[in-house]
Amino acid sequence: MATHKLLLLPGDGIGPEVMKEVEKLIGWFAKRGVGFETEKDLVGGAAYDAHKVAISEDAMKRAQAADAVLFGAVGGPKWDGVPYAARPEAGLLRLRKDLGLFANLRPAICYPALADSSTLKREVVEGLDILIVRELTGGVYFGEPKELVTLEDGSQRAVDTQLYTTGEIERIARVAFDLAKKRRNKVSSAEKSNVMKTGVLWRQVVSRVHKAEFADAQLEHVLADNAAMQLVKNPKQFDVLVTDNLFGDILSDIAAMLTGSLGMLPSAALGAEDAVTGKRKAMYEPVHGSAPDITGKGLANPLAMIGSFGMALRYSFGLTEEADLLEKAVTNVLASGTRTKDLAAAGTNAVSTTDMGDAIVKELNALS
Ligand code: NAD
Repeated sequence: MATHKLLLLPGDGIGPEVMKEVEKLIGWFAKRGVGFETEKDLVGGAAYDAHKVAISEDAMKRAQAADAVLFGAVGGPKWDGVPYAARPEAGLLRLRKDLGLFANLRPAICYPALADSSTLKREVVEGLDILIVRELTGGVYFGEPKELVTLEDGSQRAVDTQLYTTGEIERIARVAFDLAKKRRNKVSSAEKSNVMKTGVLWRQVVSRVHKAEFADAQLEHVLADNAAMQLVKNPKQFDVLVTDNLFGDILSDIAAMLTGSLGMLPSAALGAEDAVTGKRKAMYEPVHGSAPDITGKGLANPLAMIGSFGMALRYSFGLTEEADLLEKAVTNVLASGTRTKDLAAAGTNAVSTTDMGDAIVKELNALS
């Protein structure tokens, strides 16, 4: 039996609360024969309190050795005054950098029971299931020169540089096509090849990777501004949408808003495939932060964290059936009207973080 090595980094605030619910699910799947080997460590403010750093070398070694890292959230007012290099977010940034996580995956799934929480019409978002793949380590956020200078006449000039190489585009395109295989096998690639040279290269390289390695997938090119419009007009036309760092930042936030609450949004960051094992480094985390305003009150919605675990099942471990089962359990629990406070309509009863985790376990039992 394959053993999947998981490192749990609950972090701060509601991080440990929502991670506890994922631990219930790990226990549930383990009892049904899925082999997990889990370790736990500190990150963020919790690591600072114990070791005066945002993540210890030991935890980094464990992260490097794990098949996947599950990350809760970091930060909070308690650590506002800590030295810059040891601030809680530094732990997250170090993990992303040292694990080489260049592909950011943001699914936008709209559960039928929550379709009315979206600002868009029910028929536009109901049943939505799309995946945005954003290049995370290149492009205009990192390109040089990057400067703000004062000119001789006293006015100022600012420069950011959009820069992509063939290799950077190839590897993100491969991630997108690989992921599409596990879904509806359609990739939409967004750039601005009408006005940007990086867009021209992006389009050429994605087409080449498609033709040479993934010819059975459906590929369409779409200009990024049109992609933004289509995401709001008819988002269900997309399956996997791959794009660069800047456009991905914007398009993934549009997609996120199609689904309603912050407490529902999972994410993943993937690295390069290991030449020997074929495995990718990976970290899975909810999009939300540590929510200090609701910490310790049993109000946190654990579904973003649970969804992140579901992504690990699907994308790191190839456990498609188990991931589908978990998604079905979440769908059914929401359909039954069970809601944490962030999702509950005013005046209706809400369940606690623990109750929501228990409801998912109960539904998994009923489904299997
Ligand atoms: P936040 O995401 O923590 O919270 C924003 C709002 O959404 C709050 O009202 C919160 O109560 C609510 N919320 C968030 N997650 C929820 C959940 N699962 N269930 C129910 N409600 C939820 O963002 P913020 O308040 O801007 O930041 C708080 C702290 O988190 C800061 O220290 C910030 O730096 C940190 N942060 C960390 C990450 C991360 O670890 N990846 C991401 C964003 C913010």
